[in-house]
Amino acid sequence: MNLHEYQGKEILSSFGVRIQRGKVATTAAEAVEAAKKLTEETGTGWHVIKAQVHAGGRGKGGGVKLAKNLQEVEQIAGEIIGMNLVTPQTSAEGKKVHQVLVAEDVYYPGDSEPEEYYMSVLLNRATGKNMIMYSTEGGMDIEEVAEKTPHLIFTEEIDPATGLLGFQARRIAFNLGLSGTAFKEMTKFVAALYKAYSESDSSLFEINPVLKTSDDKIMAVDAKVSLDDNALYRHKDYAAMRDKREENPVEVEAKEVGLNYVDLDGNVGCMVNGAGLAMATMDLIKQAGGEPANFLDVGGTADAERVETAFNLILKDPNVKAILVNIFGGIVRCDRVAQGIVDAYKNMGTINVPIIVRLQGTNADIAKELIDNSGLDVQSAIQFKEAADKVQQVLA
Ligand code: GDP
Ligand code: MN
Repeated sequence: MNLHEYQGKEILSSFGVRIQRGKVATTAAEAVEAAKKLTEETGTGWHVIKAQVHAGGRGKGGGVKLAKNLQEVEQIAGEIIGMNLVTPQTSAEGKKVHQVLVAEDVYYPGDSEPEEYYMSVLLNRATGKNMIMYSTEGGMDIEEVAEKTPHLIFTEEIDPATGLLGFQARRIAFNLGLSGTAFKEMTKFVAALYKAYSESDSSLFEINPVLKTSDDKIMAVDAKVSLDDNALYRHKDYAAMRDKREENPVEVEAKEVGLNYVDLDGNVGCMVNGAGLAMATMDLIKQAGGEPANFLDVGGTADAERVETAFNLILKDPNVKAILVNIFGGIVRCDRVAQGIVDAYKNMGTINVPIIVRLQGTNADIAKELIDNSGLDVQSAIQFKEAADKVQQVLA
């Protein structure tokens, strides 16, 4: 689950990471009130108005702007709220902005060159360790830095059993070229950031930029956070941060009915029971010359109602040219699943894409008969290879 910048900053702050402070507003009038309060609390004269959407590169798309007085706060907030923000990370239509973060200006006027660093904490799946990636070249496109000047990106691997060690935090501060107060501040910043990442069960904390002010404070100016969905049960307060407006509507619907659905770009919809079989099925589709349109694990109970719900979800994707159902009947009997498919098909009225059903396991032969005798435009297969060939045929 991804978070908005302001939510990520709330988590950071709760772990003692210094952040650029701000308040959320959903209207221009609220933004002015937020700016006034922020001035009382922080003494800031200028404010930065930042669009809150789940996409990076907002600055480049005109979603981050400096306001030098309350009139500008009102005007800029009014422009940004409700706009469709297009950034290098959104689609061409962009993302609708529902709220802005009114933040204190932390790039003090008169600062000749504020130092902006890049820092992220994430899991290195290859080594089974956490890692902190960081660079002196923050603020801009880190992808570009990685491509053109990869030697400017450092990594520090952290064993989850020991956590971040003191010398590692010092090495990071040293590699960033810091000394004195800024060096100490950075070691504290890194330690608190790692703690936030680890204790919130996150898969990513990306801070770009990390700012060094002219008075040697180190702070998070931006925050991109991904939480591990499977750990949300033990973070009820974070789970409440979900913003469904930012998520794929079909995936949200699937989650609500307890289906494991991930939207993909291809043309063959698939309905499978079990994640492993779903992965194998996606490979099979690729081998047959197709591209999976989704990952869908219907789980153990593939009854008529569930099958129908799953069909409905898959058919919401206009790119779907065929559907492959691949179900192993171990606990659930294949004939029951087949009956479920037939019933679902009849209930749904018009389904305009060919359906290939492969049922294997208990009562697979009875299931095949049921489908073959149903009179519907559903093709049955028992062997994996047979199913692949049929997918190939219908795509041709
Ligand atoms: P992103 O473009 O989505 O990554 O949004 P960021 O939160 O990183 O903001 C984009 C850019 O806005 C930063 O790289 C800064 O250069 C600038 N910015 C952010 N906060 C301030 C601020 O307080 N004052 C000024 N002058 N610029 C800021
Ligand atoms: Mn940023």
